Amino acid sequence: MALIVQKYGGTSVGNVERIKVVAQKVKATKEAGNDVVVVLSAMSGETNRMIALAKQFNEHPSQREMDVLLTTGEQTTIALLTMALHDLDIDAVSMTGDQIRMKTDGSHGKARILDVETENLQQHLQKGRIVVVAGFQGRSPENNITTLGRGGSDTSAVAIAAALKADECQIYTDVDGVYTTDPRVEPNARRLDSITFEEMLEMASLGTKVLQIRSVEFAGKYNVPLRVLSSFKDGGGTLISYEENKMESPVISGIAFNRDEARLTLSGVPDQPTVAAQILSPICGANIDVDMIVQNTLGDGKTDFTFTVHNDDYLHAKELLEEVCVRLGAKSVQGSSDIAKVSIVGVGMWNHPGVAKTMFETLGQEGINIHQITTSEIKISVLVDSKYLELAVRSLHKAFELDVEPKEEK
Ligand code: ADP
Ligand code: ASP
Ligand code: MG
Repeated sequence: MALIVQKYGGTSVGNVERIKVVAQKVKATKEAGNDVVVVLSAMSGETNRMIALAKQFNEHPSQREMDVLLTTGEQTTIALLTMALHDLDIDAVSMTGDQIRMKTDGSHGKARILDVETENLQQHLQKGRIVVVAGFQGRSPENNITTLGRGGSDTSAVAIAAALKADECQIYTDVDGVYTTDPRVEPNARRLDSITFEEMLEMASLGTKVLQIRSVEFAGKYNVPLRVLSSFKDGGGTLISYEENKMESPVISGIAFNRDEARLTLSGVPDQPTVAAQILSPICGANIDVDMIVQNTLGDGKTDFTFTVHNDDYLHAKELLEEVCVRLGAKSVQGSSDIAKVSIVGVGMWNHPGVAKTMFETLGQEGINIHQITTSEIKISVLVDSKYLELAVRSLHKAFELDVEPKEEK
């Protein structure tokens, strides 16, 4: 008998009909002889609706109370699915994050999972019950309700699968797997039968929201077999695998993008030791994540310092940088939140030096200006104006022939 953890995202439980379809799928998995733990998201749109509701009271509501509010979305769906399973004469019980002892740290809105106790879950499973768990939520050492960040139900599912040593963690969503890029942006995107953890981690960290990055980290760390599938149509989906044969891997596996970037430049900073640290320490002190850092020395004893942050943090980061500007006697602060990051990802890139050239030529031919570039062994990211995002993704997808089935699947 296998133990399967199935996670269903917001669109998969978006209305009564969808919940009934999920109940049938869960029933079929159980009747095929498996133990099943189901992890659910809130109905699609529900978390956004509640965020907007809270903002009608306060632009920056208490983070503790936000988590109390947002976790109700998942509490609703677990009860409804459990009722739907009861209607099918299936023994099932719903449990909140707190009830399964999902222990997290105390950082509201982006809590990290510390530990999952399996005792409660195991007791129900041993009685042949299906356990329907609320994703996205946990409990802090201070006994507060916490949430795991947007898309966090993926991470709940993988953490539960890891703790229970499940045979597979299946992430059911509205696409039938991981594609070479977001099929909503490039309709010619191709579904991948498998992708390595390394590539999936890079894609997720560069903005591919089909899996929350922490879920991929967890799965890699605890060896959880992870699969992305559709709850709308049948198929094998995409397996996130360990297999990594760099010599045979396609040069580029996928294109990721992130619309949520904003860019800040502090110019005319004295070119001295500790300057970079002095610029970034107030930003990091405010818990703002910094990405794509570039420093350009101008040769006149001055330097320009540029970095990107999440759009939501743009105004706050800009205020902090204005203060740094005065303190360091720098020239000015400039910024834009109308930018996007486009990245090509592939473990086969490391021994193909022509990849960057093809990328830059392709963007150049489309008249797309590149503001900033960063590279690693398995990715190249560029910053472009937001209005060029779709064009950049589609032209790169074509240039790297991602729509064409490779001769040999890896
Ligand atoms: P859920 O609500 O089920 O968690 P998400 O909206 O979080 O679903 O993730 C699924 C969406 O991810 C898809 O609808 C798709 O538009 C988007 N997506 C972005 N990049 C990719 C990709 N490379 N492959 C598949 N889906 C992607
Ligand atoms: N409901 C949460 C969100 O919308 C968590 C999730 O769906 O994974 O982000
Ligand atoms: Mg999601």
